[in-house]
Amino acid sequence: MDVDDLTAIAHVLGLTPADFLRSAAECQVCRDQAPPGFQCLTYGTFTPAAAP
Ligand SMILES: [Zn+2]
Repeated sequence: MDVDDLTAIAHVLGLTPADFLRSAAECQVCRDQAPPGFQCLTYGTFTPAAAP
């Protein structure tokens, strides 16, 4: 895949190439936003449970 391919894919998805690269770096499951009280198993980011 070269830059032209990436640009084409990003265009199809309605994203700029920069957006595409950023989203690819995020966890594809929770997008770096694990549900409260859970930990992202991809990056280990823990989201504290919301205070009652
Ligand atoms: Zn995740």
